[in-house]
Amino acid sequence: MARIVMKFGGTSVANIERIKNVARHVKREVDAGNEVAVVVSAMAGKTNELVGWTREASPMHDAREYDVVVASGEQVTAGLLAIVLQSMGINARSWLGWQIPIETDNAHGAARITKIDGSQLIQRFKEGQVAVIAGFQGIGPDKRITTLGRGGSDTSAVAVAAAVKADRCDIYTDVDGVYTTDPRIDPKARRLPKVAFEEMLEMASLGAKVLQVRSVELAMVHKVRTFVRSSFEDPDAPGMGDPINPPGTLICDEDEIVEQQVVTGIAFAKEEAQISLRRLADRPGISAAIFGPLAEEHVNVDMIVQNISEDGSKTDMTFTVPATDIDKAVATLEANKKEIGFDVIQSETDLAKVSIIGIGMRSHAGVAATAFKALAEKGINIRAITTSEIKISILIDNAYTELAVRTLHTVYGLDKG
Ligand code: ADP
Ligand code: ASP
Ligand code: MG
Repeated sequence: MARIVMKFGGTSVANIERIKNVARHVKREVDAGNEVAVVVSAMAGKTNELVGWTREASPMHDAREYDVVVASGEQVTAGLLAIVLQSMGINARSWLGWQIPIETDNAHGAARITKIDGSQLIQRFKEGQVAVIAGFQGIGPDKRITTLGRGGSDTSAVAVAAAVKADRCDIYTDVDGVYTTDPRIDPKARRLPKVAFEEMLEMASLGAKVLQVRSVELAMVHKVRTFVRSSFEDPDAPGMGDPINPPGTLICDEDEIVEQQVVTGIAFAKEEAQISLRRLADRPGISAAIFGPLAEEHVNVDMIVQNISEDGSKTDMTFTVPATDIDKAVATLEANKKEIGFDVIQSETDLAKVSIIGIGMRSHAGVAATAFKALAEKGINIRAITTSEIKISILIDNAYTELAVRTLHTVYGLDKG
């Protein structure tokens, strides 16, 4: 007997028929004698619709009320799945975030889980009951509903798994694992049997939305054995109930991975924007004068490039921000123009960041040079580059994203044979 947390994403619960299919996956694990908690997302498209309504009601709405609205999608699916499970003779009960409770901080719209009391869930497990938990939501210190940021049900699931000391957390989605790149962009992408926590963290933060970044952090810290697997496979196909090696991708410590590649995957993020400040005074404190006010406005600055000026007195600074933040960033810089002391601001949207990820890069030279050469041969212009020990990120024009991803995928030998 094992204790398992199963999470089902939006496309897996998109309609009643799919919810019935999810219930069959749950039944398989219950019939095998396991203790089961299920975390569900809202039906596909529902959260987008709810977010749209809050904007339509008022573009500058209160974040607490945003959370009240957008958390409702998960309430519906939790109730529906409990109803279907009960109709199959399974003892099941739905739980909203506040009922458990899943406590979070006060950052409405992007809250972080601070504590989960697993005792009630464990008590119900002992009574043979399946808990069906609304993902994405919690309760803040102000006792109001919070949400965990887009894709947050993954984080709910891993956090619940850590709280109840589950043996496994299975993230069921519409692909059968983590691939070398988004299989929707590159049909030659390969499924990876295992991915190291550090690599998955980079892949998720650099655009691979298959797992929310925070869920990977929690899995790494709490050593939660997390599998990414498909809800669309026949729930009763052979091997689906395998307690040790279920089909899918295991996110694990790097020493569990025997065959290490130099490059594990390619991630990409569209919707990047670039800002250049021209003819700044080249003096100590200039970076603080620029990035301090942006940080205060919660603008997430990513790649930063500072040019050396010819005469040593004036410089140019170029950096990227998410396209959604561009207006806020430019307005903040204009408001601080006097303190910063630049000549002009230039901004550009329609950019993309393509990233090459692999822990094997730590011990291999020349990985970046291969990318630069391959992109040059395709006529793709590189606007900025950042690197860390295990990743290289390259800023390019959005229109070349797919070509760049496929080119890099091939050049690093990731294409399936
Ligand atoms: P869910 O609704 O189940 O949470 P998401 O849409 O959030 O599902 O995440 C699954 C999607 O992530 C896939 O459909 C796929 O297009 C995308 N994706 C991006 N990068 C990858 C990758 N490297 N491996 C697998 N899927 C990826
Ligand atoms: N329903 C939420 C979203 O669409 C949470 C999730 O799916 O994980 O962002
Ligand atoms: Mg998701």
